[in-house]
Amino acid sequence: MNLLDIGPDALATTQPAFFRFRAIGDKVLLTNLEGRWVVLDDEQFGLFARGEVEEGTPLHELLSRENFLRETFDEAKAAEMIRARRTFLDAGPNLHVLVVTLRCNTTCVYCHASRANMDQVQTDMTPEIAEKAVDLILQTTSDYVTIEFQGGEPLVNFPVVQHAIEYALEKNKSIGKQLEFTMVSNFALMTEEKLDYLLDKRVQLCTSIDGPADLHDAVRKLPRADGSAHAHAVKWTKRINARYREMALEETLYHVEALVTVTRDLLHRERELVDTYSQLGCRALFLRPLDPFGFADKTAHLIEYPREDYLEFYRRTVDYIIEQNKQGVEILERYAAIFLTKILNGEDPNFLDVRQPGGAGIGQLAYSYDGQVFTCDEGRMLDAMGDSSFLLGDVWKSSYRDIVGHETVRAVVIAGQLDAHPDCVNCAFNPYCGIPPVHSHKIQGSIWGRKRESSLCHVHKGILDYLFEKLAEADPETLEVLRRWTTTRSRDHFLHQVTVGAV
Ligand code: SF4
Ligand code: SF4
Repeated sequence: MNLLDIGPDALATTQPAFFRFRAIGDKVLLTNLEGRWVVLDDEQFGLFARGEVEEGTPLHELLSRENFLRETFDEAKAAEMIRARRTFLDAGPNLHVLVVTLRCNTTCVYCHASRANMDQVQTDMTPEIAEKAVDLILQTTSDYVTIEFQGGEPLVNFPVVQHAIEYALEKNKSIGKQLEFTMVSNFALMTEEKLDYLLDKRVQLCTSIDGPADLHDAVRKLPRADGSAHAHAVKWTKRINARYREMALEETLYHVEALVTVTRDLLHRERELVDTYSQLGCRALFLRPLDPFGFADKTAHLIEYPREDYLEFYRRTVDYIIEQNKQGVEILERYAAIFLTKILNGEDPNFLDVRQPGGAGIGQLAYSYDGQVFTCDEGRMLDAMGDSSFLLGDVWKSSYRDIVGHETVRAVVIAGQLDAHPDCVNCAFNPYCGIPPVHSHKIQGSIWGRKRESSLCHVHKGILDYLFEKLAEADPETLEVLRRWTTTRSRDHFLHQVTVGAV
C-alpha cells in the first residue's frame, strides 16, 4: 500500500493509536501517551502493528480497553489520566530543605552534603536566617509544606532546629498550611531530651543504614572515641520505634525511615542488607546508587561501580525482598514502589527526582546555612563544589516571586520534560520516568543531557525492565506483593493542621 492510499477508511480500522514499545524478555511491552500498558507476544504484536486485530477477539478487547486503537480511542479518558499523573503541577514547592549547619561529627566517604569539621561554627545557620527562610517557605502556593532539617548533622545546631519549628508553628497560626517536619540525622548526637522534643513536635525521623555493622562503619566513620556509627544508628532507631510503641502509635505509620547508599562493597551482601533492615523494623529499603555530588566525586575510585553491577545487585536484592514478603515480612523497595504506583495505579506518588517535570524549584527549594536559596538540595551541593548554576537568590533580598519565577527554574522545568528529549520521545518508559536536570548538568555538563549516555537513564531502564518482567511473568503471589507496594502511605499523622483564626 502506498502511503497516499491511506485514507480515512484505512484509519477507521484497527490501526494502532500512538504507542511506544520495548522488548521485555520474549514479549513486547506497549505503552501509550497516558501510561497505560499491555504486554503482547510476537504474533499479537504483529497483528497490532499491521492494523489486523480482528474485532470481537480478546486481543481487540484488551487493546481497546487500554486505549491502543484509533477506532475506539477515548481522548477524554487519556486526558483524565495524564491530568491525574500531573496533579503536582497545581501546587508549588512543598518540600523545603533547611541546611541548619554544614558541621558533622561523622565522616562519610561519599558525603554528598559537603560536610565541615566540628570547629567550623561559621557554617551554622543563625536564628535570624532560619526565620527569614521560614517566612519564604510559608509563602509557597502549596497547601502542604514539609520542612526538612538537613546538614551536615542537624543535631549539631539543635537550638536553631527548635527555633525554626517554634517560629514556623507560631507563624502558621495565621496562614494555615498543612505543616510537617522531618529530620535526616545520623543519630550519634541524639539524647533523650532532644528526642522528647522531636516526638512532641511530631518530627519524622530518618537515618542512614548502609548495611551490616562492618560495612556501615567502613563508609560512615565516627572519631574512634565516639564509638561505632552503626551502633548509634541502630540503638536510636530501636529506641525511637520503642517510644512510638509506648505512645500506642500504629507501627505501620510511625517508625524511623532509613536510607541506604549503595557502595561497591555492598554489591554482594544483599541478604545481609535486607535482614539488617527488617530486623530493625524498617518497612522500606531504598536502593539508591551513588550520586555524583559532594565527596563521592573525589572518592569514586574507592566506592563506585559500573551500573550493570548495580542492576544485577538490584535484581538479586528485590528478588530476595519479594521472597521475604511471601513469607510474611513486610518490607518494600522504594524505587520499585515509586515506579509501580505509576504503572499500576496510574497516579504519581510525587517523588521529586522521578517525575516530569522534576521537583527542582517547583516542588522543592533548599535553603543553605548562609541564607542562599537553591532549586534543590543537589543544587546546593553543587554550589559547595564551586558551581552556582542552581542558585536562585537569598533569604534577605529575594522575594518568593523572584525565587520561583527565576529563569533557572524555568530552564530546569523545560529540561525536565522528557517528551522533548530525542531518546525519551520513543522510550516505552517515558510515562513513568524523570531525570533531574541537575544530575545531567553534573555528569554531562548540560541540564538537557544525553540520555543514552546517562547513568541514571541506564538505572531507570534496568529497574523498569526488571519490574515489567515480573509483571509479564504474572505469578499471582508476586503480583500481590507488588500491588501491596503501591499503596501510598498516609503521612497525615505527622501534619500540624491549623484552622486559621481558631487558635
Ligand atoms: S553524609 Fe551526612 S552524616 Fe555523613 S558526613 Fe555527610 S553530613 Fe555527615
Ligand atoms: S531517561 Fe532513559 S529510561 Fe527515562 S524515558 Fe528517557 S530514555 Fe527512557
